[in-house]
Amino acid sequence: MAGKKKPTVSESMPTLRQMLVRFWPMIRRQRWLVLGSSGALIAEVGFRVLEPWPLAFVFDAVIMPLAETPGTPGSSAPGGLSPMAFLGVCAVGVVLIAAMRAGSTYLRRVGFALAGSRVLTQCRGELFAHLQRLSLSYHSTKRTGDLVTRIIGDIGQVKEVVITAMMPMVAHVLTLVVMLGVMVWMNWKLALIGLAIVPMFALSTKRLGGRIHKIARVQRQRKGEMGATAAEVIGSIKTVQSLSLEEIHQQAFSARNKSDLREGVKAKRLSARLIGTTDVLIAIAGAVVLFFGARLVLDRTMTPGELLVFLSYLKTAFRPMKNMAKYAGRISKAAASAERIVEVLDTTPEITNRPGAVDVPPILARLNFEAVEFGYEPAQVALNGVNLEADRGQVIVLAGPSGAGKTTIVNLLLRLYDPRQGRILIDGVDLRDYTVETLRRRIAVVPQESVLFAVSIRDNIAYGAPGASEEQVIAAARTARAHEFITAMPRGYDTMVGERGETISEGQRQRIAIARAAIREAPILILDEPTSSLDNENTRLVRGALRDLSRDRISFIIAHDLSTVHDDNVVLFLDHGTVVEQGTHAELLTRDGPYAAMYALRGGGDGRRPAEKAHALPG
Ligand code: ADP
Repeated sequence: MAGKKKPTVSESMPTLRQMLVRFWPMIRRQRWLVLGSSGALIAEVGFRVLEPWPLAFVFDAVIMPLAETPGTPGSSAPGGLSPMAFLGVCAVGVVLIAAMRAGSTYLRRVGFALAGSRVLTQCRGELFAHLQRLSLSYHSTKRTGDLVTRIIGDIGQVKEVVITAMMPMVAHVLTLVVMLGVMVWMNWKLALIGLAIVPMFALSTKRLGGRIHKIARVQRQRKGEMGATAAEVIGSIKTVQSLSLEEIHQQAFSARNKSDLREGVKAKRLSARLIGTTDVLIAIAGAVVLFFGARLVLDRTMTPGELLVFLSYLKTAFRPMKNMAKYAGRISKAAASAERIVEVLDTTPEITNRPGAVDVPPILARLNFEAVEFGYEPAQVALNGVNLEADRGQVIVLAGPSGAGKTTIVNLLLRLYDPRQGRILIDGVDLRDYTVETLRRRIAVVPQESVLFAVSIRDNIAYGAPGASEEQVIAAARTARAHEFITAMPRGYDTMVGERGETISEGQRQRIAIARAAIREAPILILDEPTSSLDNENTRLVRGALRDLSRDRISFIIAHDLSTVHDDNVVLFLDHGTVVEQGTHAELLTRDGPYAAMYALRGGGDGRRPAEKAHALPG
């Protein structure tokens, strides 16, 4: 009731209102269902209000006259009916009203449950889509588990509570309000007397409800602890058994198990007490109303039937109020969940299309970085005034010590982040003036760790260009030098990666990843070299594949092992976000700068001179 739900639910009111605004478009889509269910709710309340009236009529029109003048059963039943006929009508009325009330309750429950589920299912879909759009800088600050919990747990929580607490609460409050209205209309003084129990009600449910709620919370926490202990022990059962730790774990577990039992019993006891208190309070209110009401009946200001209605309303309207504290607690908890959902939905993706953004054309000639400055965090400098120019057919090797900013260049190119200062241009147009979707479609990436999904090899390759034909898949596999080993497998392109993941070698995985990049037919190619070195045969095949792939493309290679760099490749040597050297591989080696030093340490370790490595990488 108004008095007691205030502290909990009203606190969450702003959130609830915010939620309503946020979800309004989704709710609107279910408006017919919501309207229909609201109609059912109103009908339900109406029938509930009507329920005691047939009995009242029978009392006033049939039984009372009989009591007053025995032998002549009320000759003046309403509607000119004989008393027996009137009795029959009332009896049928009782059944009809109950049936219609049950029907409306059913429709209201199913309707709201359906609408709520649909809205929240849609919301979950949006949340998932939204999370995929949010920038990497957002994801790097959030814990994955937390986001997953929001998608699955929080939405589920809100859905559950809307259906099992919010709607019943609305129904109960509406019933209470309408019944109080009718009571005031019938006799406002008696209604006020009945209402005198409200503060007592508020007090007892708030106190007991609050305690129940607190115990329930402790209990949930305890269950979590038990789950964690069980998972830990079962997960490391070998250690536990070999060190004979069973007894210790058993004791810890059973202590928690016992506390859980104690708290469970306590919660049950308290809620039984709450129910008992409610019933006693209703009885007290009933007794007081009966006392004063009976005098009104004797004074003939009220009929006995009306008194019956009064008493029955008191019971029907107030009994569900014992659940109010429970509902309110759950609703404010759901509001917290809702807040977590809205928080994600309201985070706008940082990388968005500017108004008037254009598509990136399928064939590109040139790519430039102009004094690009960037940091992942405000105070950090990951790139410091980087300039670079790359033309079609050219391979740019990004080299430098770990943490120099090689990956960052690629991240900016993919527009996973935007530069803080400076510009990145493709064919003279700022990246930010292109649509993000086409930009990423025009870039094929072969990552350092080839990520293969647990689907067939064919699908793994086709992921590069959804909707690709069989011919395209095979052509891409041929370019990637992967066709031979794939067809040599018993199930060929249908081989499931998950099934025989361990039998696909690292080099083969790499070539599948290259095929996935090849099928994209993207004008920009990015290869993040694997750090683990491949065997000679695989290295030769991968290089050949890349040579074919980089033709007519703008290619970037993040080189870790400099032994693969070709003489003609343009090398960008980075250190601490600054380009310290730039030039072809051969030029830089003669310059004897930091690149030459690093080459001597890593790539040049085999003692070969640059000229002897003419076949090394695509050029
Ligand atoms: P490289 O690829 O040359 O090893 P990166 O481009 O990955 O180097 O990193 C450049 C700098 O940016 C490093 O100092 C690194 O610690 C920092 N950095 C990289 N990624 C992030 C990130 N997500 N958040 C904060 N700092 C990052």
